[in-house]
Amino acid sequence: MDCLFCKIIAGEIPCKKLYEDEQVLAFYDIDPQAPVHFLVIPKQHIACASEIDSENSQIVAHIFEVIAKLVASLKLSDGYRVVNNCGVQGGQTVPHLHFHILGGRDMTWPPG
Ligand code: AMP
Repeated sequence: MDCLFCKIIAGEIPCKKLYEDEQVLAFYDIDPQAPVHFLVIPKQHIACASEIDSENSQIVAHIFEVIAKLVASLKLSDGYRVVNNCGVQGGQTVPHLHFHILGGRDMTWPPG
């Protein structure tokens, strides 16, 4: 499949890996928007949040468990932001479900 994140999961494209298990991969964003900026992605190809259904939604709970552990290990105790961009108007550029975790600076609202 011609998917950038599937290629990262397969090891065909390198990444700065933070965490991996049977279901997910976490790695640092190549273009960080905060002092800490990493992505957590399912190994199963799910194109975007609109494809989450009763068959695959367990992965989202697992991703948030992993996020909680990683932010604790990275000492983001003052807070952080989890972002999911979905679809073209949502700002999604890689069509493989992913959650951005941003921390290490004050976040602004609205995000723009
Ligand atoms: P989005 O715009 O929400 O689809 O997010 C895609 C993210 O993937 C962007 O923040 C990119 O900087 C990031 N990205 C693209 N290519 C790579 C890569 N090879 N390694 C790490 N992050 C990447």
